[in-house]
Formats: sequence, structure tokens, C-alpha cells
Amino acid sequence: MSDTMRAYRLIAWGEPPRLVDMAVPRPGAGQVVVRVAGNGLCHSDFTMGELTREIGEALGWSMPFTLGHEVGGWIAAVGSGVEGLAEGDAVALRSPASCGSCWYCTRGQDSACSGGLVGRGYGRDGGLAEYVLVESAGDVLPLRSVDPVLAGPLTDAGATSYHAVRRVLAKLTPGSTAVVIGAGGLGAFAIQFLKALSPATVVAVDSDPARLEVAASRGADEVVTGVDRDTARRLQAMTGGGAAAVLDFVGIDHTISAGLGSLRPAGTYGLVGAGMGTFRRPWYGGLPRDAEIFTFQGSSRSDVEDVLALADGGQLVIDTEQFALSDVQDAYAALHRGGLRGRVVVVPSD
Ligand SMILES: [Zn+2]
Ligand SMILES: [Zn+2]
Repeated sequence: MSDTMRAYRLIAWGEPPRLVDMAVPRPGAGQVVVRVAGNGLCHSDFTMGELTREIGEALGWSMPFTLGHEVGGWIAAVGSGVEGLAEGDAVALRSPASCGSCWYCTRGQDSACSGGLVGRGYGRDGGLAEYVLVESAGDVLPLRSVDPVLAGPLTDAGATSYHAVRRVLAKLTPGSTAVVIGAGGLGAFAIQFLKALSPATVVAVDSDPARLEVAASRGADEVVTGVDRDTARRLQAMTGGGAAAVLDFVGIDHTISAGLGSLRPAGTYGLVGAGMGTFRRPWYGGLPRDAEIFTFQGSSRSDVEDVLALADGGQLVIDTEQFALSDVQDAYAALHRGGLRGRVVVVPSD
């Protein structure tokens, strides 16, 4: 390992990130250093550079830090006391911190742990660098057959999407329909999970024809272009009485009302997308009969493990668009523009 590396870092509150040189981290006791094979970019990265000091510090974040919370790579150095991991092992990293002992963590709901407000790539150094320090070796998840260049997106986009699918599986009996609104990074994973784990017919809804093409190639049985006032009626007609589950990976006013409007009685609507939409109707009597509505952020450790197991079993295609670390700004610009056919992954090695 050389002494210095490139890293894409937030340097100060409210300022855009920059590609800078910094020291390569060394592992302390119980820690490992991972050489990054690939780091997936996430829409949430955009908001981090805009945080005020007040909000950042309230979250427990400290400046500067390296962005990137979807990391796959190889173990580069192992600190004392770490067992079961060796240099060269292919791994993925779980980014959110969790305490392991609170009410939520002990019930397998570690995505609700208050420790998770800080994580690798948000408030601490992340994977948009040649190397990343893993402070707790427990965050390291070994890969068997999955390519570490592609593994990063599974740990966040894949696992969050899996969390949503897992929560509606019981509703997806034979003959039922699941609707996925927003067929981008998370939605494309959701389509694959639904096809792998349920007998439901899967309908993908998106305004972007490129995404719908990917959705169809990943198993969507039907695709619907765009969301407007007529979408709920169309989906009701297509599904012969409504969808058993709708997963909304967009979360704007139109998708919320189309999603709720296309449920069948006793169906479930899950809001995942951070579109900040609202639903201004009387809830009592205004929602589908016996409907269930849920929302959440992030994923638990067990979600990540399940997703990695599915990928290792060959049941998951990981669509990516890859960029070099020196082109990281172009990678974010591409993410911002949209029209992509896979998750954006930054590959630090030249
Ligand atoms: Zn993310
Ligand atoms: Zn906890």
C-alpha cells in the first residue's frame, strides 16, 4: 500500500465535495482496511453537501469526511484481534452504524437504531477513495461469488429495496399483482426480488423508457409509462380489481395518490422514495378499505445478508454504469441527469 490516496470528500459544511489526496488509513485493533473495488452512488449523497453545520452536528457527523456508503472491495490490511478475515478476501461493507444492544437492535430492527444516523460515507469516511477504514470488523460481509466491483449497491439500494419487498410478501398470493413505482436503482432490484420470491405478477411504472426497458429485461410482466391522474384507474383495470401491494420508490404527490388508488381492499402500500410528496385527503374513509400503509428508511443487517445470499445464488443481476474515481463528478452528473440503465458505481483502480 502506498502512503497517500485519492478520496472524494466533503471538506466543510455547505460546500461541494472535492477530490483530494489524503493518507491511506491503517487498521487499529479490531479494525480492517479495505481496498475499494467499487462504490455505488446514492441520491442521498447530493443532500449531504448541502447540510448546515447545525444539522450535521445534531446528527453526530464530523467534517471532513469521504462520501460513499455502498462499498465492495478486498481486505487490504487486518488489525490485531480480527479473526476470520484475511488480506485479499472479497467483501462488501454494511455502512450504517448500529449499537447491537438497544431495543431495536436486539429485535433485528437495527435500521431503527439511533446509532445509524452516522455511518461510513455519512459523517465518517466512506468508499469514494482507494481505501476505506472499517472501524468494526463486524461490518464486513464476505462475498462468495459476487464481484466486489458490483457488490456495493447490494448493501444499500439492494437491501433497502429488499426490506420493502420482504414486508409485503405475505400479501402476494398466487394470482395477485405487485406494482413497483419508479424502476430506477431500487425499483429494478425490487422487480427482481418480487419475481424471485413471490408468485405475483409484477407491473413496473416509470416515466423513463430506458428504465422500463431494464425493468422488462429483469422480469417485469407489464410496464406502464409515466404517472398521471389516470394511472390508478389504468392499474385497477390491468390488475382486475387492484394491486395486492404497491411499492413507491418515488414518493411524490402523483405517485402516492396513484399508488393508494391502485390498491385492492386489504392491499399494502409502502412508501420508500424520498420525493416528499403529500396526500391531502381525509384518511378515514378516504383510503382503500382495510389497507395497510408503511414507510421506513434504510435496511437491517439481515436484509443485506439475504440480498448477498440471493446474489451469491445467482438470482440477482446487478446492472451498473461504471466510472473512474477521477471522473466522480461526471458520475454524479450522470446520476443527476437520469436515463441510466443501472446503479452508478465508481471504480477507484485505474
Ligand atoms: Zn443510499
Ligand atoms: Zn441499537
